[in-house]
Amino acid sequence: MSPTHTAQLMDGTGLARRIVEETTAKAAEIAQRTGVTPCLATVLVGDDPASVTYVRMKRARCAKAGIQSRHIGLPATTTTAELVDTLAALSHDPQVHGILLQHPVGPGIDERAAFEAIAPEKDVDGVTMHSFGATSFGLPGFESCTPGGIMRLLDEYGVELAGKHAVVVGRSPILGKPVGMLLLAQDATVTYCHSRTTDLQAIVREADIVVAAVGRPRLIHGQDVKPGAVVIDAGYNPGNVGDVDFDTARTRARLITPVPGGVGPMTIAVLLEQTVAAAARQLGMR
Ligand code: NAP
Repeated sequence: MSPTHTAQLMDGTGLARRIVEETTAKAAEIAQRTGVTPCLATVLVGDDPASVTYVRMKRARCAKAGIQSRHIGLPATTTTAELVDTLAALSHDPQVHGILLQHPVGPGIDERAAFEAIAPEKDVDGVTMHSFGATSFGLPGFESCTPGGIMRLLDEYGVELAGKHAVVVGRSPILGKPVGMLLLAQDATVTYCHSRTTDLQAIVREADIVVAAVGRPRLIHGQDVKPGAVVIDAGYNPGNVGDVDFDTARTRARLITPVPGGVGPMTIAVLLEQTVAAAARQLGMR
């Protein structure tokens, strides 16, 4: 890399806009052909301000795309059994095509038990073990939305994955773990790093593709980015700061996602896309 090298930016805002436009057209086609508007149920336990904002934002984006949403707000005192019953009822409701349980659900609730009450065909947020297993095997199923968005970005920019060394930093059930499995399903050689990894920097230096999914501002520094690597920053920390030190990383990477405007916008786009796909399938359309 020359001293003046600057990586190409991976434009998540533009790609997300295109996905949402296609999704909006598909939702309109479903409504026209079947008389049914695709419907996403959003479930929120408690009143955590960030979660309230996220759900409001997702519902507003649904409305804009011609997707109906039905909101179920539950008190913070809700038990696991009550939440499971609510999600099971939505799973059986033919007027609901997708279900989103906003997480974290708060202390005292078994989040995994709650997720597993979502029917796989309505798991448009890709949080169930069924979805994780299916997509890990490369079989039909809904992807966890942020990992799905990352894979769409890699595809959009023609990043070759087969035989490449992908280092995923972070192993959360909704982000790190599934994105690693999606990369593996496309024949990348995947290394997972986490809080117990020793010598993270040495491992990152070996990566052709780095996915940062940690939640620690600027944890990955440019000096540890292999020249010509592809850098995906899923981190979102206060002050619009990612998990990658953007200014130094862009002098060595070939492609890099900005924060904001990289991975962030892709998550809702994939959620909307999967909701409409779920509706199409449940209504007997291709
Ligand atoms: P999380 O559940 O807190 O998981 C963080 C992961 O990072 C864990 O696997 C943890 O390891 C690992 N980790 C923590 N400190 C580390 C260190 N010093 N070195 C290496 N690994 C370390 O977080 P998450 O939900 O996956 O989210 C991660 C980031 O992505 C956050 O900034 C979040 O805001 C962002 N995010 C963005 C979107 C979006 O763009 N739409 C969506 C989801 C999340 P252990 O497993 O060992 O604890």
